Amino acid sequence: MEVATDLEAWRAAAAAARAAGRTVGLVPTMGALHAGHDSLVRAAQRAGDFVVLTVFVNPRQFNDPADLRAYPRDAAADRARAAALGVDLLVEPPLSQMWPADPAPTATTVHVAGLTDGLEGAGRPGHFDGVASVVTKLLVVTGPGRAYFGEKDFQQLAMVRQMVADLGFAVAIEACPIVREPDGLALSSRNVRLSAAARPRALGLSRALAAAAGAPAPASALRARMRAVLEESGVEVAYAEVVDPLTLRPCDDAEHGLRRALVAARVDGVRLIDNGPVLITEA
Ligand code: AMP
Repeated sequence: MEVATDLEAWRAAAAAARAAGRTVGLVPTMGALHAGHDSLVRAAQRAGDFVVLTVFVNPRQFNDPADLRAYPRDAAADRARAAALGVDLLVEPPLSQMWPADPAPTATTVHVAGLTDGLEGAGRPGHFDGVASVVTKLLVVTGPGRAYFGEKDFQQLAMVRQMVADLGFAVAIEACPIVREPDGLALSSRNVRLSAAARPRALGLSRALAAAAGAPAPASALRARMRAVLEESGVEVAYAEVVDPLTLRPCDDAEHGLRRALVAARVDGVRLIDNGPVLITEA
């Protein structure tokens, strides 16, 4: 496995793979790698890509400095995991080359309007501008034919699709299903911050989604059911929404069909998100 810690070395290694006739597959992450990240790498390998895994804890997408400080980092473990997976190029972009002005913002910011207003965007000002800006830079430097994103971050995936279409990036965005613990908890780098006491409460998110998926009803009834399950679990609810999976607009009770339920909650100070498909019916 090649490791690049310099932007020009990274650009050159990806260009060399393209020159050798390979399709480059980009897997962007913030590290603290887990089986969810592995699934993205494996999807890229199944497609036959030259797999470029980036590990960068992007300060610009953290609206809460305490969350950035507490974000788990383990470069040695990530390197070992990436090598064991058979990643072709591991990139650890230096902050000085990604955002030279940090902690001041760079002059250029990518903003995707509309899709980013609600849900995570409502509670985390600036978050999606930080994500859109970093994903743009990762795409520009890497030049991948495919880029892999998890459905775990459903709104992020929708935003990236919109951005790539609007800006004309020659990359196919590949969505990968959510990888869960056997008890249903969606894998997340933030899960390591859950105390033993908080861990069972975190199951409230996947249980709320299962309760909504298990019994089709109008959107407002599904929202209420999810909120009730979350509150019973003892988590602090940020939102429990049912939206159109493409526009992310909240559904009304006159609609029916396959939609997406999304939940966010704070568990013992750790903010978790999850989502899944639901069927909404008319009253
Ligand atoms: P992160 O390191 O949390 O920024 O995530 C990097 C990528 O991995 C994103 O595209 C996430 O959606 C994806 N990802 C994170 N957790 C999971 C999971 N449990 N299942 C599938 N994909 C995931």
